[in-house]
Amino acid sequence: MRYLPVFLDLQTGLVALVGQGELARAKLRVLVAAGARIRWYATEGEHDVQGLEPAQLARIEFAKGDPLAADLTGVVAVFCAGAGDVGVAMSARAKLVGLPVNVMDDLAHSTFIFPAIVDRGDVVVAIGTGGASPVVARRVREKIEAVLPARIGDLAKFIGRFRKSIHARIPEMPLRRRFWERVIDGPIGALVLSGHKDDAEAALNKIADASAFALGKAQGHVTLVGAGPGDPDLLTIKALRALQDADVVFYDELVSSEILDRIRRDASRVAVGRRVGKPGIGQEAINQLMIAAAKSGQRAVRLKGGDAFVFGRGGEEVEALRRAGVSHSIVPGITAAIGAAAQFEVPLTFRRKALRVTFLTAHKAGDADLVDWSTLTDTQMTVVVYMGMTAAPSVRDGLLAAGRSPQTPVGVFARVTRPDAKAAVGTLEQLPDLVASVDGGPAILIIGDVIAHSVPWRRQNLNLTLSDILETAQ
Ligand code: SAH
Repeated sequence: MRYLPVFLDLQTGLVALVGQGELARAKLRVLVAAGARIRWYATEGEHDVQGLEPAQLARIEFAKGDPLAADLTGVVAVFCAGAGDVGVAMSARAKLVGLPVNVMDDLAHSTFIFPAIVDRGDVVVAIGTGGASPVVARRVREKIEAVLPARIGDLAKFIGRFRKSIHARIPEMPLRRRFWERVIDGPIGALVLSGHKDDAEAALNKIADASAFALGKAQGHVTLVGAGPGDPDLLTIKALRALQDADVVFYDELVSSEILDRIRRDASRVAVGRRVGKPGIGQEAINQLMIAAAKSGQRAVRLKGGDAFVFGRGGEEVEALRRAGVSHSIVPGITAAIGAAAQFEVPLTFRRKALRVTFLTAHKAGDADLVDWSTLTDTQMTVVVYMGMTAAPSVRDGLLAAGRSPQTPVGVFARVTRPDAKAAVGTLEQLPDLVASVDGGPAILIIGDVIAHSVPWRRQNLNLTLSDILETAQ
């Protein structure tokens, strides 16, 4: 490490900016955002303030005269951007009086360099590569942006406000540290991060005995996380954070191994789902495991394929957690239908043609018998069937008997967003054959004219257009 990251207090003085053009204006914007007051020397001619806003202009002092002869009293740092040779000369001058100086894109004449910055208010992360590669620094920044909660700065500020009073109540440093760890990792921290500062403040004020709170058992939490249909890049940022934060993860059979790889290395992983042909441990046992984990102070994640609230039994689990008084939250995931729609370009709705979408399940032929197919004959409705592979013949027969056209385009989409994804498209009559042709599940069935817009349809049915189908249907 050659460059030591330090944080400069910009309230303590002026910064001098030398240069002009877009480079100088870009630097001005960064400095203003950081709260600096800036004395700006334009190196050639007038100060060009194009595109700068009044609030930005208000923080700028427009200096006349030669920066090389200017009085530097009260200046805390010198920045040169778009200043050419004047920048180099200015650097020599600043060095002579011991002022830190940065000449943009010129390591040789700089005594400090600009990091890439993640700015979350009071929480700021600086990333440097010793000037070697700003692009690498930006990539690192993107990764950090992705894992840092948006309101982490609010959390720091919140704690900052209570620091003094807690200091007075808990004089012992190690105990005080435990106190803050418990606040940050527990429900109070979660409240601030979810934007409920007032509730967080009320909860903090309610702690009567701060030392006892610090020594108490950590409060557990369960997060129901939708893992999406398989591609780990389809996890939400929130889902990824929950996985990185978990002490224990209870996962379903449907969750892909690439997603399990994103779980924090030393978290325990417990498979709780049904496997093909083998029963799982059962819903009641899963509920009990989650509740026990949270009550023992762990941060538990319940990880499910797709979205927890779309045929994911998330509703039942939330009921159980509520009944047990366990703190919990829900992170949505991309459900299989949405994954299939994106991957195979099936617009689930289409202007003036497909106005409604129904998600239904037909797990066994028995389920299919329970469906009132007469509600699904509307040609403006796209019907998505989950868990419908075995029951495909009943789905077809039910829809045909209710009057939906045998020529209705249908698609079977298996293992969507995974490397071995496969689609088969055809007409409603052919549904069971299509199911047989995708080499196993999981798969969803999509029924409706919108299938005629999908990529596999276009590939396989080049001469069968939507209007052909509509004509045959009439
Ligand atoms: N909660 C999940 C659905 C669970 S039910 C979700 O929101 O996606 C299980 C059914 O989901 C499977 O029978 C299948 O119909 C569908 N499914 C789940 N993952 C899938 C995938 N990757 N490709 C196709 N279908 C999938």
